[in-house]
Amino acid sequence: MNRPIIPRSPLRKNGKNNNGSFIRDITALCEQLQLPNSVKDAAIGLNSPFPLRISKSFLEQIERGNPNDPLLLQVLPQTLENSKVEGFSDDPVGDLSNSVTPGVIHKYRNRVLLTVTGACAIHCRYCFRRNFPYNSENPKRDNWDSAINYIHQHSEIEEVILSGGDPLMLELENLSELVQQIEQIHHIKRLRIHSRIPIVAPERVNEQMLTWFDKVSLPVVMVLHSNHPNELSTEVESVLNRLSQRGVRLLNQSVLLKGVNDSAETLAKLSNRLFDIGVQPYYLNLLDRAHGSAHFEVSAKHTQEIAAALQTLLPGYLMPKIVRDQGKSSGKVVLCLESL
Ligand SMILES: *Cc1c(COP(=O)(O)O)cnc(C)c1O
Ligand code: SF4
Repeated sequence: MNRPIIPRSPLRKNGKNNNGSFIRDITALCEQLQLPNSVKDAAIGLNSPFPLRISKSFLEQIERGNPNDPLLLQVLPQTLENSKVEGFSDDPVGDLSNSVTPGVIHKYRNRVLLTVTGACAIHCRYCFRRNFPYNSENPKRDNWDSAINYIHQHSEIEEVILSGGDPLMLELENLSELVQQIEQIHHIKRLRIHSRIPIVAPERVNEQMLTWFDKVSLPVVMVLHSNHPNELSTEVESVLNRLSQRGVRLLNQSVLLKGVNDSAETLAKLSNRLFDIGVQPYYLNLLDRAHGSAHFEVSAKHTQEIAAALQTLLPGYLMPKIVRDQGKSSGKVVLCLESL
């Protein structure tokens, strides 16, 4: 076998490598999933600076031989990404205009977001930060100093959000150093972590990481990112249980994606499954219009229909807030169903 499965394990210290591996080669992916050559050729033809990347765990949840699998479509490069569509840009939600020091985005008064790494376990083709300049917006380059100083100086900030990329891709040592510094800032009440790792690479949430969570003194909210019930395997369930047992509050955000989860039935299943595994549905984000993601956009009319149907299928507490990020400092805008 000559498959370029590239093991990456930032948490490899102290023993066994149980951090999974990633596939970055389109031919290997298409072989393993038994996909037709046409799919492979189109993916190779794209030649994007945002390359294919998929974790083995996520790959295992994809149906063999199905080019329309809802998980596959999230990660498969397509030539459609080359189309320039009006209204789509490199920075659709105004991250950069709210960047106060490299990697620190202060858009909302009492919470601040750090893009702690550009790395992710999978590359989601619809990602709103797919064109984000992680190299220049890197808060780690001065050992977090300017980020920590900024937060120290802004006593209105109550919550620090670790984002990225995926913050759980950081070496645990780095993550731990950063969080220790955040914990020393008296006005910080909560730590939030935005991560897809427990969903797409649950094996990375290992004993070491779980032990670290035990030591964090701030209340931790983890906002997961799952778009489809097929992503929520029993391995995912068991890792989430272990996080909950440590007092980590689990919320989920999804993105409404054409061909992936644009049906009320799928979204209702997702909410029900999230409930079963102890996760509160939080946001259903409408697509942020990043260059290269236009083929995922669901029309306004269909969105309204899905939202209305979803509400009839779910109890209120499992209905995610349907939001659009318009880059405003007042917060994300909630879709109104009243007019229906
Ligand atoms: C969405 C977002 C947040 C978090 O907002 P909540 O509504 O509190 O979940 C924070 N910072 C930025 C830059 C965001 O885009
Ligand atoms: S930041 Fe999140 S949405 Fe974007 S590629 Fe990484 S895991 Fe996917």
